[in-house]
Amino acid sequence: MSVSQLQARAQVTGAAGPAWWRRLSPASFAIAALTGLVVWVAVANLVSQGRLAAVLAAGRAELAAPLLVALVVATGICERLWPAERRPVLARGHVQDICYLGLHAVVVIPLMTLLSVGAAALIGGHARWIELRATQHWPGWLVVPLTIVAMDAANWLAHYADHRLGPLWRFHALHHSQEELSVLTSFRAHPLMHTTGFLLATVPVVALMPTRPIAPVLITSYVCIGTLQHANLRWSFGPLGRVVVSPAYHRLHHARESQAVNLGVVLTIWDVLAGRAVFPAWSAAPGRTGLAGRPVPVEQDGAAGPAMLLLAEQLIEPFQARRS
Ligand SMILES: [Zn+2]
Ligand SMILES: [Zn+2]
Repeated sequence: MSVSQLQARAQVTGAAGPAWWRRLSPASFAIAALTGLVVWVAVANLVSQGRLAAVLAAGRAELAAPLLVALVVATGICERLWPAERRPVLARGHVQDICYLGLHAVVVIPLMTLLSVGAAALIGGHARWIELRATQHWPGWLVVPLTIVAMDAANWLAHYADHRLGPLWRFHALHHSQEELSVLTSFRAHPLMHTTGFLLATVPVVALMPTRPIAPVLITSYVCIGTLQHANLRWSFGPLGRVVVSPAYHRLHHARESQAVNLGVVLTIWDVLAGRAVFPAWSAAPGRTGLAGRPVPVEQDGAAGPAMLLLAEQLIEPFQARRS
């Protein structure tokens, strides 16, 4: 076969479409593999200690605590009374996020628990030098708040990375795709979005509190503040909102055109230090949320399928190469 015939065949093969693997995103599979590794380390450690069931139950008690359930219900009532945007209870965005709440309860809570254990085992086992032994003698009232503030800084950094690094953004984009923000949007996240956050947030815990656990109620309180920020409310928390992330403050991060500001999870100070804080104006109308151009399939699209089918499409989306 001549060179020209080979070239012609190559062109014909190319015209038939890209190979199947070209339609996949290898970076997303790498993140999935990293997550699998951390989870495997956690399960192996806990099984060898006979503590797997007990640790999963403790994680459930922290991340699905009655305090958090009460907060979600109370916020839902407030959203009906004083909504930032008025919409039906069963708006498609709410129904879709209820599906994510189910996924969160069944899959994400155990995953978060195992990521936390696995990250501590990996970082504690391979980077013991980061442990600050001197902090063992510090009083709890000093070291516990310091650790939680450092964890919040690590979560800010992970969130910043989610927006700056393409492979991480592919998983984070699902959270930003919601065009009908509500308290339930806190649970609208790809399960593989959490890996970097847990790896980074474990560093200050291993460094500052290598031998002491953080009281579960503090973790639950932290999660509660992080959940309230998606509420469909215009609350800015007044003067407290200059320090703590409010629904109005976080809504600006979900703006449709740009998500470059207000990356804080609980504290606003990291945004202020990074020059990325925009505090909400009292008189401003709530802006539109979601992603311009809808790169992730969304329920508000007239062609969207049933909620559970769409959920599967949204979860698979990061593994596909972007069409653009
Ligand atoms: Zn974000
Ligand atoms: Zn958000």
